[in-house]
Amino acid sequence: SQRPYIVGNWKMNGSRVMLAEARAIDRAAQRYPDVEIALAPPFPFLGPVREAVSAIGVGGQDCHTAAKGAHTGDVSAAMLADIGSDFVILGHSERRRDHGETDALVRAKAEAALAAGLSIIICVGETLEERDAGKAEAVVSSQVEGSVPAGEVAAVAAGRLALAYEPVWAIGTGRVAAVEDVVAMHAAVGARLAAIFGEDADKVRILYGGSVNGENAAGLLAAAGVGGALVGGASLTADAFLPIVAAAS
Ligand code: 13P
Repeated sequence: SQRPYIVGNWKMNGSRVMLAEARAIDRAAQRYPDVEIALAPPFPFLGPVREAVSAIGVGGQDCHTAAKGAHTGDVSAAMLADIGSDFVILGHSERRRDHGETDALVRAKAEAALAAGLSIIICVGETLEERDAGKAEAVVSSQVEGSVPAGEVAAVAAGRLALAYEPVWAIGTGRVAAVEDVVAMHAAVGARLAAIFGEDADKVRILYGGSVNGENAAGLLAAAGVGGALVGGASLTADAFLPIVAAAS
């Protein structure tokens, strides 16, 4: 079975000073060869972080659907690959909210990223309103259906697709989802993936994201169907992030 995958999403946080945190995480990573560890810093710091680390993966937080062209302010998957990125996060709820990203756009970005040779992490998750209305599984199933690049069987078989279940109400709120809800939601995501990819759906790791920290990580990571964690706030320092890595080990 695959190693647990612990990914730090720095979002729009950080500065060059945080290269020291990346280096500290990288040094410590060598003690946890049984855990796959990665960081997704903001674009300006991606190259510097890439050059500062060797044991961990590095990736972007978004990419454009096109390889190049007249798209001021955007960054292509080919560029991310060119500077040595391993992966890209796509369809984060903050991009769906701030930039109106739809499932169809996320799928197009996913296809572009896989074509550029990157691995991808596609994010899905329901709002509190949707959960309270009893629609959490339906919403997330439909996001998986619409965002996952169903034609990319070879890349999926090669383990280049991961999903992240991130309930919107658990992101940055300190309100972590209950383990039994995480298990149910990961099962729903897994069932949808199995309908798309058959047996190869086993190769898709499903990460949990939303207020993961050093205290709650062990319980979440031990839960059925949880293949890792996508960590925001607690990935910004080595001191906060490494206990999560240790919990996965
Ligand atoms: P927090 O860990 O800060 O809740 O963020 C989760 C997240 O959105 C990771 O992508």
